[in-house]
Amino acid sequence: MGRYIDAVCRLCRRQGEKLFLKGPKCYTEKCAATKRAFPPGQHGQSRGKGGRSKLSNYGVQLREKQKVKRIYGVREKQFRRYFITAAKTKGVTGKVLLQLLERRLDNVIFRMDLAVSRVQARQIVRHNFVYVNSRRVNIPSFLVDKDDVVQVKGKDKAMNKIKDNFELSKDRTVPSWLEFDKSQFSAKVTRHPGKEDIQQTIQEQLIVELYSK
Ligand code: SF4
Repeated sequence: MGRYIDAVCRLCRRQGEKLFLKGPKCYTEKCAATKRAFPPGQHGQSRGKGGRSKLSNYGVQLREKQKVKRIYGVREKQFRRYFITAAKTKGVTGKVLLQLLERRLDNVIFRMDLAVSRVQARQIVRHNFVYVNSRRVNIPSFLVDKDDVVQVKGKDKAMNKIKDNFELSKDRTVPSWLEFDKSQFSAKVTRHPGKEDIQQTIQEQLIVELYSK
């Protein structure tokens, strides 16, 4: 992920919507985007209506792209590479783009509810707890494919933490493209994800318009 070292809640406040970057806190009244629903910074409350100026078409497209990058924790260069791949792939570019992001291994661990956030899911992958088809994979951007089996394994202490994550995330649902086996902390990829499997509302055509200029 891009090394963003400022408070992540500022990203939601800048975006003007909840991006769910911090796990359980996002679902409580402590959420900064709810408590302070205006952009961060000294002039956050004074710009335009509700602290937000009217955006140009370009601004709207840019904001949507930033939102998706932040949700998945992807850097600009990598995000653009996903777009180029999506544009070359058969199908609707925007939908293929979202599918590529959703197929990332760190996202799969998050969607299996074994991490409270994608940042934590990335750490689980990097720390060698994740196996794909019984082979250890520690690359968060690894793309899973149909029929792959993803499993989280480790020593008891680490697994206890992952069990705690699962308990904390139990209000979320595992999407239907992952056949989840709670007893093994594993999931089989039954198909590629579609737009309907994505939790947040994303207007992917705005991103396509932005990059097609
Ligand atoms: Fe965003 Fe979560 Fe922070 Fe709320 S608590 S502002 S949803 S990261």
